[in-house]
Amino acid sequence: MTLGVMWFKRDLRVFDHQALVEAARNRHLLPLYVYEPELVRAPDCAPQHIGFINECLAELDQALTGRGSPLQIQHGEITSVLKRVLDSFGTFTLYSHEETGNALSTARDLRVADWCRANGIRWKESPSNGVVRRFNPEDDWATEWQKRMRKPPLPAPDFLGTPPGILTPNGPMTPYQLGINSADKSQRQRGGRKQALLIMKTLFNEPLTPESGSRLSPYIAYGALSVREVAHKIWKTRADILAMTQEAQPAEMLDSLQSLESRLRSRCQFIQQLESEPRIETMSLRDGVELDREPQFNQDYFDRWRDGETGFPLVDAAMKMLAATGAINFPLRALLINFSSCQLWNHWREPALHLAREFIDYEPGVHYPQVQLHSGLIDSDRQQFTNPIRLAQSLDEDGAFVKRWLPQLEQVPTAYIFKPWTMPLVLQQEIGVLIGKDYPTPVVDHLE
Ligand SMILES: Cc1cc2nc3c(=O)[nH]c(=O)nc-3n(C[C@H](O)[C@H](O)[C@H](O)COP(=O)(O)OP(=O)(O)OC[C@H]3O[C@@H](n4cnc5c(N)ncnc54)[C@H](O)[C@@H]3O)c2cc1C
Repeated sequence: MTLGVMWFKRDLRVFDHQALVEAARNRHLLPLYVYEPELVRAPDCAPQHIGFINECLAELDQALTGRGSPLQIQHGEITSVLKRVLDSFGTFTLYSHEETGNALSTARDLRVADWCRANGIRWKESPSNGVVRRFNPEDDWATEWQKRMRKPPLPAPDFLGTPPGILTPNGPMTPYQLGINSADKSQRQRGGRKQALLIMKTLFNEPLTPESGSRLSPYIAYGALSVREVAHKIWKTRADILAMTQEAQPAEMLDSLQSLESRLRSRCQFIQQLESEPRIETMSLRDGVELDREPQFNQDYFDRWRDGETGFPLVDAAMKMLAATGAINFPLRALLINFSSCQLWNHWREPALHLAREFIDYEPGVHYPQVQLHSGLIDSDRQQFTNPIRLAQSLDEDGAFVKRWLPQLEQVPTAYIFKPWTMPLVLQQEIGVLIGKDYPTPVVDHLE
């Protein structure tokens, strides 16, 4: 074996990385990351994604350099970058993980496969996480998932083949250099494996609540951590608990472990669905159900929803938090898309793209099915309308969350905090919060 090119995509780690383990058997190794203009300029990409990726790349480069072959970072259409590698260093084997991405990355992979065939290059893709390529629907997916996850995570290779040379120019680029003019989010989670491991270390100090979650999803989305690493941490913690006497076992913790394991499995199962049905990204899975909505897209409603100015405090606070941090929990994600699709009656596609840009952990295979599910497009038996006032009363009893993200409502008494438009005018004047001036009137006057 001579030269291996390890093409990193959404798998930015050296641990538990089957493709890297195989690539490391080559005498020479070129670890490669490519900023691809068509993906960077796509409507689901945003500066916070690039910022997060760059933080992961910096740590990945350290880990690779310490093993003998630094990361080489290129900018350009992938097949032209691969051609440059071929012209500079001669023939090679290409390694990567099996990516289940959006329509653009899938088309890009097909192009790479064609290019490899035309140039006599072998491309070896390895499974990653729990998604099964060419899955036979007659097999039991959950059993296959368990089989993959139960295998111990792979150690990182100790040594990598020496680099064949350096491609120039080479190095990380800022969102601005990549042509994105909007700003990154200053309050977002930092990228990189170190942060991910810090979270893992303290993950089970106390039980996770469905509202808080593990905060691991961006690290899993960009592959700084593998799903299998998290699954093994869950199983090890569970085994430690079960080794305690029955009375000492914290039942809540066992539930919390169970629930995180099932979320990890769902994650892979959702992505598996996109692998088998790529149209989920653009088309409703329930044929015909959405067709009446697209022509009547209400731009004003969309703008108010996107800017957190619907006049419904929980919706607006969730959007403001998302704009600042790039993360909100599951119930608030579900509320935002449900409000847009079922209360504002807007088609889901544009709002889904807005959320995709906003979420640091954007993962097409989880995102689009979730959007459709909470838009009432998949499961016709489910309750389709989430009432933002009732939800606020259960999630944010005293309105502290709403007041944190909508400080202009600080003085509003708790009795009115989730429907401030019902405050008598004298009270509005007394506390200095005029509805329609200091905070918007509701965007719609009906609520299902
Ligand atoms: C409209 C909508 C869009 C969403 N878009 C995304 C997305 O782009 N990327 C994403 O990772 N998650 C998405 N989710 C699922 C979920 O809300 C987030 O994964 C979760 O809030 C992340 O929090 P956490 O980091 O604390 O992970 P945890 O809640 O601790 O979960 C751990 C892992 O399980 C996965 N997971 C969690 N909840 C679910 C779920 N309901 N279905 C499938 N997998 C799940 C996550 O990917 C995460 O990696 C979306 C949910 C909704 C309602």
